[in-house]
Amino acid sequence: MLQDIKIILFDLDNTLFPFEFYWERATKETFYRFSLTKHLPFDEFFTYYQHYDHYFWKLHHEGHISLDEVRQQRLIYALKHFDQHISMEEADIYFREFFSYLIHLLKPDEEVNVFLRELKKTYKIGIITNGKASEQRSKLEKLCLYEVFTEEEIFISEETGFEKPQLEAFHLPLLQYGMEHAQAVFVGDSWNNDVVGAINAGMSAIWINPKCNKQPSEHKPLFVTENIMTLKDRWVSLQNAECRSLE
Ligand SMILES: [Mg+2]
Repeated sequence: MLQDIKIILFDLDNTLFPFEFYWERATKETFYRFSLTKHLPFDEFFTYYQHYDHYFWKLHHEGHISLDEVRQQRLIYALKHFDQHISMEEADIYFREFFSYLIHLLKPDEEVNVFLRELKKTYKIGIITNGKASEQRSKLEKLCLYEVFTEEEIFISEETGFEKPQLEAFHLPLLQYGMEHAQAVFVGDSWNNDVVGAINAGMSAIWINPKCNKQPSEHKPLFVTENIMTLKDRWVSLQNAECRSLE
């Protein structure tokens, strides 16, 4: 029941902003700026790059390699298909260029920020995000999300020491807010990290699923929705339905 919910916690990437859209744009831009890549066929490169990106992320999630290694290896392996051999240092430079361009591209979505401010009048809100603190903070800054969330409402895994789907990543904010699991809902796009993680931690979950993917397991989110603005419509109509049923 929505009326039991007192706190709404959000994932950041691909939940509060379309990270994938910016990732693709920044990847293309970096490709054409970089002397090692700019003469190669982009579409072919991108197919390999995405393939290795998924492959190395999976290894990272399984605990085999670090985030820095994902970023180095996806480029090193993609370029091998074009007989280009680069060092890890060159791959690091490529990533830094890519990331600064991604931050340059980011634009705040005022509609989303207004909705979040509106929610904050009724609920406690917060962000739980996996990643490096400096990178996540650059995104929050550029998206003007510091105008919505205070420092105390932002939980970044590098700083807390817990990555979703670890239960502690979800429990830590509840402890800080003095809330019960049943009073919390978590909103995120990753089935495993966000939805399964939150449900296992005793919270409700809302799945952001823009590509209408099939649910990979039997876990039951409160509802599934396309993006943060369709969530708003769904939330309001569910609230209204609950109010009517209580009358
Ligand atoms: Mg995400």
